[in-house]
Amino acid sequence: MTSARLSRRGVLAAAVTAGLAAREAVAATPAIPPRAQSQILSGVDDIPDPMGDRMRWAVVGLGNFAVGHMMPAFLESRRARITALVSGSPAKAADLAARFGVARCYTYETFDQIAHDPQIDCVYIALPVGLHAAFAIRALQAGKHVLCEKPMASTSAECRAMIAAAHTAGRQLGVAYRVHFDPFNRQVAQMIRSGDIGAVRYLSADNCFDANPAFPPHAWRLTKALGGGGSMFDYGIYGLNGTLMMLDDAAPTDVSAIYTTPAGDPRFAQVEGGVLWRMRFAGGIHAQGCSSYAMSHINRQLVTGTRGSLAMDPANVYDRNVAHRRRVDQPDVVIDTTASLPQFSAQIDAFSQAARDNVPHRTPGSMGLRDITLIEAIYRSADADGVVVRL
Ligand code: NDP
Repeated sequence: MTSARLSRRGVLAAAVTAGLAAREAVAATPAIPPRAQSQILSGVDDIPDPMGDRMRWAVVGLGNFAVGHMMPAFLESRRARITALVSGSPAKAADLAARFGVARCYTYETFDQIAHDPQIDCVYIALPVGLHAAFAIRALQAGKHVLCEKPMASTSAECRAMIAAAHTAGRQLGVAYRVHFDPFNRQVAQMIRSGDIGAVRYLSADNCFDANPAFPPHAWRLTKALGGGGSMFDYGIYGLNGTLMMLDDAAPTDVSAIYTTPAGDPRFAQVEGGVLWRMRFAGGIHAQGCSSYAMSHINRQLVTGTRGSLAMDPANVYDRNVAHRRRVDQPDVVIDTTASLPQFSAQIDAFSQAARDNVPHRTPGSMGLRDITLIEAIYRSADADGVVVRL
């Protein structure tokens, strides 16, 4: 356990490759104490389940994110433990199994045998997007609950097939939108809900980084078959989903978009390198967002209301998100929880509880379908150079 925790720190340091470096705080509101954080995050009490009572998970796809962030988070969870690994790389799986104390390993070819493995209740899918639907459906047909990484799948049709498979199997299907379990994002959403910045009028979200085709986790993202789409699919989806979270999942009435893909850039032969989108909501609320694979890293959201604004920068990175709340009638407030890390284990615990108690998960398959459907509308508009698409 200890070595895995140490290794987590090493991997977190390496996560700077994604441009997710922590910022210096300008000032800080009092940090939420750890015990309260887990309650806010997961909605479960903070007493760990005995090991034997925890939901048993298989992790599918042992890549950057699964190994660097989610597997260490299982060690900190209160409702879950890893009992199986699924990988195309047996040597890597064996090494991780030894480090994490996991007894069983499957390959993609033997994956369906999990149907006969009573030591697996839930399956976490961290494969390239183009493989999400096939493996989620196989896991559901094997009678397991599925938490699938974002974006849910390559098309809305695939999302619907996943939801139908979950319905048929009577199992939970969740999409791993970790931000919904992040104390910082939940605090900002609560401030907006409470009217702290007045009536919301305008939101913006920017999610950009510079894709490196020589870096394997970026290479598949630049292919249509495995990436599903481009910057909007992989990174812009955080801004889209986060914007809707800040609006309590309001439904937009129309959308328009244009591509910002740099001309002649060989990285973007199959998927878009950038998109600018805007959406309109009932009540005079407008939102816009930018996603790009061809810019320096940026990850921020702005929510402006009639009495003030909340500027989140960064808004939804792994370890430390910061917001400035500005109002004309009050001094500025800096919201800096300094510890967004519990979002990973809180997400795992919340899904484990939803699966065990058969209660709705906070980020269900229907949310993933909604977002892919909106991105398809964004692409339809951008394909027609910005025509307004009614929703
Ligand atoms: P990686 O490329 O690092 O990992 C993907 C893993 O999938 C590989 O290591 C490999 O594992 C397995 N795999 C199976 N088939 C293929 C294939 N044909 N090509 C490449 N890999 C394959 O990607 P990430 O870890 O960055 O992303 C994985 C998932 O996690 C994606 O869905 C991504 O969107 C999501 N993600 C979510 C984040 C979040 O904040 N929620 C952040 C980053 C990613 P093995 O060798 O074990 O077979």
